[in-house]
Amino acid sequence: MNILILGGGGREHALAWAIRQNPKCDRLFVAPGNAGIAAVAECASLNPNSRAEVLEFAQENAVDFIVVGPEAPLAAGVSDALRDAGFLVFGPSQAAAQLEASKAFTKEICDACGAPTAAWARFTDAGSARDYVTRQGAPIVVKADGLAAGKGVTVAETVEQAHDAIDLIFDGEFGDMSVVIEEFMDGEEASFFVLSDGTNCLPIGTAQDHKRVGEGDTGPNTGGMGAYSPAPIMTPELQDQVMERIVRPTISEMSRRNSPFQGVLYVGLMIRDGQARLVEYNVRFGDPECQALMIRLGAQALDLLLACAQSRLDETAVTWADDHAMTVVLAADGYPGKYDKGSQIKRLDEIPENSFNVIFHAGTDMWDGKIVATGGRVLACTGRGATLQQAHDRAYALVDAIDWPQGFYRRDIGWRAL
Ligand code: ATP
Repeated sequence: MNILILGGGGREHALAWAIRQNPKCDRLFVAPGNAGIAAVAECASLNPNSRAEVLEFAQENAVDFIVVGPEAPLAAGVSDALRDAGFLVFGPSQAAAQLEASKAFTKEICDACGAPTAAWARFTDAGSARDYVTRQGAPIVVKADGLAAGKGVTVAETVEQAHDAIDLIFDGEFGDMSVVIEEFMDGEEASFFVLSDGTNCLPIGTAQDHKRVGEGDTGPNTGGMGAYSPAPIMTPELQDQVMERIVRPTISEMSRRNSPFQGVLYVGLMIRDGQARLVEYNVRFGDPECQALMIRLGAQALDLLLACAQSRLDETAVTWADDHAMTVVLAADGYPGKYDKGSQIKRLDEIPENSFNVIFHAGTDMWDGKIVATGGRVLACTGRGATLQQAHDRAYALVDAIDWPQGFYRRDIGWRAL
């Protein structure tokens, strides 16, 4: 079959790498792709958020299956347009993508189905939001109610910080948004990935990522500086607990509202004393967690995504190799602030890759036959092994083999688990 993946980051490179290995895959397109993706797929230069452009490409290229990588095309209703035109699609409808696009929507779903999460309130004006924070006290969490690329959340240690965050949101920093204020939850975070075809659910792995830019989890938040899978804190018992108390009730509630969720549910959790509470849902794979998951799943990833899109998850299982994976992100100096584009990354073609060692590209391009950095997060060096230590050593060996003085990375990915 001919397959189209929408997106062009490290997540999509990992999806393409895994899908390419499955003999069911004939032609593989990625739109827009990047310099690394070009080695495993045909890159198509089109806007993945445009329903018309994606639809036209899929029709002209006899595409049989479309996998939506990032949240933006989902929030823009691209999967709905494709499904309406008769295409098989992996990724939720615009209505179901509300689970990521609106924090208040997710909170309402949690309240309706009894899923444990932080106490919350929503405000449409700064005055009442500030008063509420003054009454509640700190620490407290202030969130812009919409997609803000991870930058709309402030974990405020003081009431003053919370007030500043509220003012910033109502000043229009992230567009026209209301504010959700949440109780601060203490604990350890983990990510849990579950496929749902609208009715059936299939857990496909756990991970922990590293949001802060600096070692020791310091400095500003990023899109993610590294991840490993599985997350030891997500024991089988805890996974069962999360499936029963959070995931299945949410999937049932979405169906009850006539917006069944089909795709991957990224369940962001806060765990304390063996009890998990929901921090957030995303409606797509995490980046870089996806890189750590895909190197573990390999070719079967396509079968899983197809079973999800075809509502066959009840007859599908994951084959685990009892392995571990780690991915370490190389970012451009200055990220997550301002950074330069166009520096050359050398020695990439000299590094041997196989099913245990892969360098996934995020922000790269090919200029005059040279691979250059064009994004904030640029490469995800990913290792797989029998132990987390082995996966760690392989990932960092890849990092060490790359010649790119304009980049940086965290040396402590996996510190919690190692
Ligand atoms: P991203 O997509 O980058 O994960 P987001 O903008 O969707 O972020 P959230 O995931 O809701 O926002 O919050 C970002 C981070 O803030 C969480 O990963 C967690 O570390 C912290 N956080 C959010 N809500 C709470 C809470 N109620 N208590 C404690 N920490 C929280």
